[in-house]
Amino acid sequence: MDCKYKRIILKISGEALSGNAGHGISPEIVSRISNVVKNVINMGVEVAIVVGGGNFWRGASAKDMDRTTSDYMGMLGTIINGLALQDALEKIGVETRVQTAIEMRQIAEPYIRRRAVRHLEKGRVVIFSGGSGNPYFSTDTTAALRAAEINADIILLAKNGVDGVYSDDPNKNPDSVKYDELNYIDVLNKGLKIMDSTATSLCMDNKIPILVFGIEQPESIEKIVMGDNIGTIIKE
Ligand code: UDP
Repeated sequence: MDCKYKRIILKISGEALSGNAGHGISPEIVSRISNVVKNVINMGVEVAIVVGGGNFWRGASAKDMDRTTSDYMGMLGTIINGLALQDALEKIGVETRVQTAIEMRQIAEPYIRRRAVRHLEKGRVVIFSGGSGNPYFSTDTTAALRAAEINADIILLAKNGVDGVYSDDPNKNPDSVKYDELNYIDVLNKGLKIMDSTATSLCMDNKIPILVFGIEQPESIEKIVMGDNIGTIIKE
């Protein structure tokens, strides 16, 4: 089977893992995503996952807290999500390694780029958790950073409640139109809230395409890697 992409980064936000609840982890959605990841691995694609943590904590929302402390709490949330994904994947026979950006050796490997690449080459799913390890960053920026570091072909950005990028919020404005394709500059100039601007800029500077799709249909991932035009692609 000839896949369009050989090595992908799948960015799954914490919200996407929480299903309809908006917080916590939905075992059903985690299991659905895992099944799709298994199929994609079986297609010969190398899959790395960057997990968010917004289903537990977002650093910037705790206004009365020290921002760095609050961001560390957010990073810890991403590690909980990483372990949930690891558990679900291993249950269905997919080999995984969780790597954390902040050392937690009893729980997972520390992030080591060369080791991550080796795992991918061996067909293991590498789950990058702990964000970038730095406060004031997001897991979208982490996805851009890791994609650049491991030479991923594309970032698949899983969204909750929307199946691509629209001119306006499609859940509020029925006249909003969906874009099939955008360039990075458009995203930045139009102020489209897809990723934060740091993440978009990092992708732009390193020419990493981003494909935005709806996590409600995780099965689209299989079609995307085969080259189907699903969601919205952002490139040069
Ligand atoms: N975070 C951070 N540095 C990083 C990545 C994440 O400080 O490199 C913290 C930040 O507080 C963020 C939280 O972790 O709000 C959860 O990550 P994010 O908001 O990106 O998760 P998502 O929206 O994808 O669920």
